[in-house]
Amino acid sequence: MVRLEKIGFEESLGRYVLPSLCIGCASCVTVCPFGCLDYVDGRPVLTGECNSCGICSQICPRYESSIQRLEQFVFDRERKPEEEFGIYRRIVIARTRDDHVRKVCQDGGVVTSLLLYALEEGIIDGAIVSGVDDEKPLKASPKLAESAEEIIESAGTRYTYSPNMLAFKDAVARGKRSLAFVGTPCQIQAVRKIQAFPLNKYARRLNFTIGVFCSECFSYDGLVNKLIKEEMGINPNEVKKMNIKGRFIVTTTRGEEKSVSLKKTKRYVNNCVSACSDFSAELADISVGGLGLNGWTFTILRTERGETLFEEAESKGLLETKPVEQGSKPLTLLIMLTRKKRQGAKGKIPS
Ligand SMILES: Cc1cc2nc3c(=O)[nH]c(=O)nc-3n(C[C@H](O)[C@H](O)[C@H](O)COP(=O)(O)OP(=O)(O)OC[C@H]3O[C@@H](n4cnc5c(N)ncnc54)[C@H](O)[C@@H]3O)c2cc1C
Repeated sequence: MVRLEKIGFEESLGRYVLPSLCIGCASCVTVCPFGCLDYVDGRPVLTGECNSCGICSQICPRYESSIQRLEQFVFDRERKPEEEFGIYRRIVIARTRDDHVRKVCQDGGVVTSLLLYALEEGIIDGAIVSGVDDEKPLKASPKLAESAEEIIESAGTRYTYSPNMLAFKDAVARGKRSLAFVGTPCQIQAVRKIQAFPLNKYARRLNFTIGVFCSECFSYDGLVNKLIKEEMGINPNEVKKMNIKGRFIVTTTRGEEKSVSLKKTKRYVNNCVSACSDFSAELADISVGGLGLNGWTFTILRTERGETLFEEAESKGLLETKPVEQGSKPLTLLIMLTRKKRQGAKGKIPS
């Protein structure tokens, strides 16, 4: 149970987070019990009278966030020095056995297959994911997926920021009882803060979390309008898939593939990500990434909940797995990207 410091939005997040640390995750907007925050142009805006309850600052992943404290809450122990990319029970390379999922997923389709399994078995009655904006092509948009069709429609990666917390709010408003939450490392941190607090309105409805690895995400205007449209000469409406595998690769609906060096994408990176020290969603039940693999998902089973769910799906023949060899390329890359992100964030987050 967290001791609640009665501090207003302006004095806490407005002063310390909004100027340069806010990623726009919308956690504060979601949890404000008085509904006095709105989400405008990717940022929280105070639109009503703040009652200085202090809840927004307690849940914000950028305000006085101690990963160690949250780790103790999630895993009931401190991490050992050798656990560089966080605490885990098992790591595997995995992929779906479902041909339909394989066609639409980003890497090995582990996320989509696990969500489908959980929905079909009645483990969850909804999944908080990221879909595509109705009006802007390729723009990530928070979504509550309530059917297998909606989970499949949301497969694949959008590299723009998706404030999935807003879909959490929607799910609670719609009376959902058991949810999966898919999100970036910063969002998983906010979810864990909600559980540790605990904000029961949200916490008791959460069944499991899947965190996606994240080096960076991009501004919509930069990635879609400047890079894809102007520099690569591709109509955003004709993009079938974007991927990062050593280069930024775009596949079109006509089957063409064009790519540019990662160096060319850097100027469109969303700056706030540089204040994040977590590459591999170290607090999630299951963390997933591509790590240069082709058609497979690098999967970290961190908690007992995550491991049980994965093993159930595996034993039912929904997923196939390969072991991760010590010293292998993806493992080396994971350690390198973990260090890089932690190093880059040093000194930027007040804690
Ligand atoms: C912004 C971003 C940056 C990433 N950076 C890296 C990286 O640097 N290195 C790496 O190895 N992997 C990275 N990943 C993870 C990788 O792209 C895949 O999500 C992961 O490998 C799982 O693949 P899959 O085939 O199992 O997922 P799928 O079965 O295709 O499911 C993907 C899930 O991700 C959700 N999703 C899509 N876009 C977003 C978004 N913008 N925000 C939140 N959720 C979303 C979808 O709703 C879907 O549920 C990144 C993902 C995102 C979203």
